[in-house]
Amino acid sequence: MSFHRMWTELLPVGRGSASGGYRRFAWTAADAECRAWFREQAEARGLAYEADRNGNQWAWAGDPAAGDAVVTGSHLDSVPDGGAFDGPLGVVSAFAALDELRRRGARFDKPFGIVNFGDEEGARFGLACVGSRLATGQLTVEQAHRLTDGDGVTLPRAMEAAGHDPDAIGPDPERLARIGAFVELHVEQGRALDLSGDPVGLASAIWPHGRWRFDFRGEANHAGTTRLVDRHDPMLPYAETVLAARRQARLAGAVATFGKIAVEPNGVNAVPSLVRGWLDSRAADQDTLDTVVTGVEEAAREHAAAHGVDLDVVRESFTPVVEFNHALRDELARVLGKDTGLKVPVLGTGAGHDAGILSGTVPTAMLFVRNPTGVSHSPAEHATEDDCVAGVLALADALEGLVRT
Ligand SMILES: [Zn+2]
Repeated sequence: MSFHRMWTELLPVGRGSASGGYRRFAWTAADAECRAWFREQAEARGLAYEADRNGNQWAWAGDPAAGDAVVTGSHLDSVPDGGAFDGPLGVVSAFAALDELRRRGARFDKPFGIVNFGDEEGARFGLACVGSRLATGQLTVEQAHRLTDGDGVTLPRAMEAAGHDPDAIGPDPERLARIGAFVELHVEQGRALDLSGDPVGLASAIWPHGRWRFDFRGEANHAGTTRLVDRHDPMLPYAETVLAARRQARLAGAVATFGKIAVEPNGVNAVPSLVRGWLDSRAADQDTLDTVVTGVEEAAREHAAAHGVDLDVVRESFTPVVEFNHALRDELARVLGKDTGLKVPVLGTGAGHDAGILSGTVPTAMLFVRNPTGVSHSPAEHATEDDCVAGVLALADALEGLVRT
């Protein structure tokens, strides 16, 4: 199968020699190499290639203007020191699935497209899914112009430096209106398939998720001379809050993480004046997420009061639940179970995807490929070649049904 050849070709691009992780950030040299690879794959198959106004790449069999197009794909960029599979597995599998359909002599009654969405991970400009958000209008041109990387380079300047016209960015409703179905294949970023023993699963929904900032304000003082009873140390209620988040998440079957913290004055011999911690929490439904976050906040207030520390909690971002199109999902479950009679597992996910951004505009589905350790956004991210091939065949089966009228 062509999967192995393509996978091997793409593997060295943007890989760090020390960590073995990938640094394929939007509009960098590594990104340009990935994009050149996409274009070569398109042209080698006689597909019509185009980069849209927002930097997403498309490869077409048939004329998309005919409408009701079937599109598959994902992204090629990575997080810092990311794994090889998150994103590229969906793009490589898309080309391999097309090869498989051609080998089968499948009938294409509808236009068929493969897409590489630009800047999905947000590793450089701090916002995920920039290409699909711009296309759907969920990110405005003004907001996009304000995005800046760690070196002070704005998104428009970075696009320009990479040879893309930044004045063209903006909503692209005509393009999206031509798509009748979008299917994104992605490596699973958890262990549900490993635990169920299935190589491939279908997505039900993307969990609602949000970020909350907890500011604990106490009193800076000398770590050597201030008696314990005289302290207003914000680190203590913060520590209790971290434990409370873990407990609340466990009780609710959700996830909650304090992964980022800022301390003032941040001195090894100083009782802190401020501890600022960011909570990321996600759950299968809104009520559960509310219960977790409310529980964490109550615990934080209680412990802050006990230590004479002030607390402010601010919700910095929130994304509601994304339910994938039920009809499309049921259709794919039927097609994928047809030969085997197996029930394809349907799972929710706590991670965001371009498919989630598009799902408000276009009927969208996702396929997941088993990741034995569940590790993602790390060089340890993995899927076996057998499972990758199972993913390609499942994607081909799904697409074969969709491209016929
Ligand atoms: Zn991804």
